[in-house]
Amino acid sequence: MSEQNLPTHFRTCCRNVIQVLEKVGVLTPELDARLLISDALGLRGAAFFLKPDRLLSEDELSEIAHRLARRMAGEPISRIVGERGFWKHEFRLSPDVLDPRPDSETLIDVALELLAARGYFPEKPYDNLRFLDLGTGSGALLISLLLEFSQVTGVGIDISPQALEVAAANAKRLGCGDRVRFMAQNWLDGMGDEDEGGFDLVICNPPYIRHDDIDELAPDVALFDPHVALDGGPDGLDPYREIIPQLTRVLSPNGIVIFEIGEGQHTEVITLLEEAGFDGVGASNGQYKDLAGHIRALAASPRQHPHTARMLS
Ligand code: GLN
Repeated sequence: MSEQNLPTHFRTCCRNVIQVLEKVGVLTPELDARLLISDALGLRGAAFFLKPDRLLSEDELSEIAHRLARRMAGEPISRIVGERGFWKHEFRLSPDVLDPRPDSETLIDVALELLAARGYFPEKPYDNLRFLDLGTGSGALLISLLLEFSQVTGVGIDISPQALEVAAANAKRLGCGDRVRFMAQNWLDGMGDEDEGGFDLVICNPPYIRHDDIDELAPDVALFDPHVALDGGPDGLDPYREIIPQLTRVLSPNGIVIFEIGEGQHTEVITLLEEAGFDGVGASNGQYKDLAGHIRALAASPRQHPHTARMLS
């Protein structure tokens, strides 16, 4: 795609970028223009508004034009600027990690609610709690939770070593690098000895798109998210089938697992959980909706054996 010829006057250039974005059907042209131009010129926050009459150099114009061309080709802003806000922090992205979605913040909400119900509250020191994130990607879920609980430690697993480099860099930059360990492996393969058991919370946003549906997704997903983070096999449920039967090896007897699921997958995933000896915990039997009203997260705990329950009561 040929790059635009942009005017050198800052304000006029901004107007021009907005018009171009509008013309190609971008839904939020003003916001996108501001983010692209701020990134091109290295401006943070309100600095964008400080010198509306400045003149832009050739280099600056080419940085802007380059980003504009990528946006016009459908690439999401978060990919172009290499950063995405999730929960309370900004996470760096690379082409190797899924762009974290606002929907996935539901899992953080659920985790905080269920931990609070067990007496664990953010900002209090619990150095005995351990969290595990399966398919950690950019680390957005695990790092967000570790930053809520100042002394908790965690393990993040991903099959992609390149994704783990991004996650480790995010953890370090956001200040919890010393409390998290990242392991490159397929789900729980090779785990389950003494050392790796006893997690109090397992969170997991696995790939859950049906293989044949991937090309039908919106272009910003289909073309720019890594398919290994999207493709859940023929019916989208392969990762749940693989992970759920292995969970009891890594979860503490009272532990909580929280899964993200795709639209309409709750019935089948609940069945898998029940077959593996898990019961829903928390509101609506462990079913939680996202802001659009779809069941987005399922929370469960190992079923208490009736015999054990009697002994304890
Ligand atoms: N939520 C993503 C989407 O619908 C999919 C991410 C996933 O498979 N976990 O595009």
